[in-house]
Amino acid sequence: MKTIGLIGGMSWESTVTYYKIINETVKEKLGGLHSAKILMCSVDFDEIERCQSAGEWSRSAEILSDAAQRLEAAGADFIVICTNTMHKVAPEVQASVSVPLLHIATVTARRLKEAGISTVGLLGTSYTMTQAFYVDVLKDAGIDVLIPKGDDIQLVNGIIFDELCVGTIREVSKNHLLRIIADLCRRGAQGVILGCTELGLLVSPVDVDLPVFDTAIIHAEEAALEALR
Ligand code: GLU
Repeated sequence: MKTIGLIGGMSWESTVTYYKIINETVKEKLGGLHSAKILMCSVDFDEIERCQSAGEWSRSAEILSDAAQRLEAAGADFIVICTNTMHKVAPEVQASVSVPLLHIATVTARRLKEAGISTVGLLGTSYTMTQAFYVDVLKDAGIDVLIPKGDDIQLVNGIIFDELCVGTIREVSKNHLLRIIADLCRRGAQGVILGCTELGLLVSPVDVDLPVFDTAIIHAEEAALEALR
């Protein structure tokens, strides 16, 4: 079994999901007392968020590259960045180590293709929804991407940073997300990507009529499968 190197803490609320899903997947595949070989370097999310809002992406690339290098030195066979947004600096992180990086948008695009989805709604931070680094990976895989309109972009972004990343779950926010997902569906989305690793803490597939692609779960499952490959 390969050793997985997790860069966590962005936020720690969703890193918990990764740890659980990776171990559950390994247990399901191997049975018995099997569990995953995991190394984790968990960063201080306050530092990362300050870099994001100041546009200091090269500083955050340094922090995450340092984490990736520590994981490689400790024996990680591949690296998993446990957030969508920070894949903005995935090329820099990948360039800083010699082990591969398992890209969250690449594995999500693969799941969408397997499900026959050609137009998808994307929910995530404003960075993830509006910048090319994430959407282009999906487009390059032949998938059309719809994002929320107008003020709804900041509404979703606020729910992520002000509530979910600090462990606050509010029914009113869940209702906002369900309304936004229904709107994406009316505009032609055949499925919806929970493209922020905390969104699954608020919305679950049973709440939504469309197929739901929860990136935290997909990324964690694919990490476990990669470890067993
Ligand atoms: N975990 C979130 C994501 O998947 C947001 C936190 C961050 O900005 O990294 O994008």
